[in-house]
Amino acid sequence: MRRVRCDVCPRGCALVPGTVGACKARGNRDGVIVPLGYGHVTSIAVDPVEKKPLARWKPGSTVLSLGGYGCNLRCPWCQNHRISQVGSDGVAWRELSPEELVALAQELHEKDARMVGIAYTYNEPLVCWEYVRDAGDLAHERGLANVLVSAGCVNGHVVREVAPLIDAANVDLKSLREETYDALGGDLHTVQDTIEALAAEPGCHLEVTTLVVPGVNDTSAEIRGLAAWLASVDPGIVYHVSRFFPNWRMRDRMPTPVSTVYGLAEVAREHLAYVYTGNC
Ligand code: SF4
Ligand code: SF4
Repeated sequence: MRRVRCDVCPRGCALVPGTVGACKARGNRDGVIVPLGYGHVTSIAVDPVEKKPLARWKPGSTVLSLGGYGCNLRCPWCQNHRISQVGSDGVAWRELSPEELVALAQELHEKDARMVGIAYTYNEPLVCWEYVRDAGDLAHERGLANVLVSAGCVNGHVVREVAPLIDAANVDLKSLREETYDALGGDLHTVQDTIEALAAEPGCHLEVTTLVVPGVNDTSAEIRGLAAWLASVDPGIVYHVSRFFPNWRMRDRMPTPVSTVYGLAEVAREHLAYVYTGNC
């Protein structure tokens, strides 16, 4: 049987018909790679934008946040592993077409004007980027905003498709060390390219988050390097330094001390004007 390679992320899964990729959300169906998780919703809630987190975009507003299943990374600390590390048979989901999603968002907006749009979040939304594109397009037509929360480890053609539709994004930057990304199944340079592309997108407000994990990325040198690189892209990028709590496959260490998070935020402020702490 002929293998077909998925071109969405650097993993480049080569799949025979009837199999799914490492993200568990795309697969080969009859010789074509398709987004198996398209429109499959596992979680939906109206969240304050500050929870995404977005600190400097429409403060006080809310967004209809939805997640599906699947992710191309394997962060052992993943808070959302029950949806990010499974496929269609590992979690309950319901179908929500882009039309149904946008109609629901519109209804919520009409009831409360603080509800400004839709956030694609919780798992990795870009493994089914076609849904973000289709719903995002429709949301813009109806005057609603689109928010993307992503680890950003997808190839450039995917970013180019969705970036013009995104009004605000929060992208994880876990480390500037290639070996850290290698251990998670990701690729540092791909994530950097995504951040650069979203920073350059005129209509997109960009914030970046680093979850500070003890023993992984909790040194001043690491955070100084991350902040300096972000400042070289755009010194106006809003940066979140966030506290780790044990979860999933990483329960062998304590939560990041609050003092460490505050100290590292100060380090980041050497390079960036807008630095926030999270989970403290
Ligand atoms: S998006 Fe999924 S199927 Fe495609 S290359 Fe990445 S992990 Fe593999
Ligand atoms: S990228 Fe995000 S959703 Fe995916 S495994 Fe890592 S923390 Fe979980």
